[in-house]
Amino acid sequence: MISLEGRTALVTGSAQGIGKAIALALAEAGADVALTNRQCEKLDAVVKLIEGLGRKGMRFCVDVSDHVAVKEMVDQVIEAWGKIDILVNNAGITKDNLIMRMKPEDWDAVLRVNLDGAFHCTRAVLPYMVRQRYGRIINIASVVAQVGNVGQANYIASKAGVIGLTKAVAAEVARRNITVNAVAPGFIATPMTENLPPEVHQRMLSLIPMARMGTDCEVAHGVRFLASDDARYITGHVLNVNGGMFMD
Ligand code: NAD
Repeated sequence: MISLEGRTALVTGSAQGIGKAIALALAEAGADVALTNRQCEKLDAVVKLIEGLGRKGMRFCVDVSDHVAVKEMVDQVIEAWGKIDILVNNAGITKDNLIMRMKPEDWDAVLRVNLDGAFHCTRAVLPYMVRQRYGRIINIASVVAQVGNVGQANYIASKAGVIGLTKAVAAEVARRNITVNAVAPGFIATPMTENLPPEVHQRMLSLIPMARMGTDCEVAHGVRFLASDDARYITGHVLNVNGGMFMD
């Protein structure tokens, strides 16, 4: 049984879907969890669930693409809890379109949240992790960064960037006892995927050897493993949680 007793975590985009499942999985293992989301109405309910597990929860209405707000949030968590052991860069958006129809503002918006957001949060927590000589950073990528997909050039570029960021930072901080890994989910049942057109849904299912969508908890369990001491010699890795959709 994985224990994160005494650890503190920050999970971005944690009001729903995979981020919420990650926050709860970390709390179940014993971590106190700070949550952040751009829309924060649903965060109170997640804090209550964390407290119901006997852990502390804290919530911030912060857009991860705002580096000033991110730094303030990290400083507040440090002030309250003294440390951040685990950072999960989960916040993500899509604005799909074929490349020739993709508006530059939709390209920018997706890169700003998915890639710049991970950079801002990583940059804000690292000085504290370096000082304490301990840290676990887990970035949520995507299988489409590994296999490509039609109509998602901005999203795929951002997630491929997240994988590159993971490896670059992993190399930089490895000597400080900080690991940096990515989890690449496949096709997961969350609010992000629930409104896909039926033909897209069917096409995605046909690409999965396990012939079903994954669940947010299945992704969260991969993240929890990488956050644990059992994974202490794993860094710069991309963990596929995809039902066999991509194998390497
Ligand atoms: P979701 O849309 O259900 O949840 C994303 C959360 O991030 C939401 O609560 C949203 O409000 C929050 N968010 C968006 N922009 C933000 C910002 N600027 N600042 C702070 N919070 C912000 O999506 P999900 O399916 O749970 O996806 C979670 C992560 O997993 C994303 O990075 C997504 O790209 C990735 N992913 C999802 C799937 C899938 O099939 N669902 C597959 C691969 C990767």
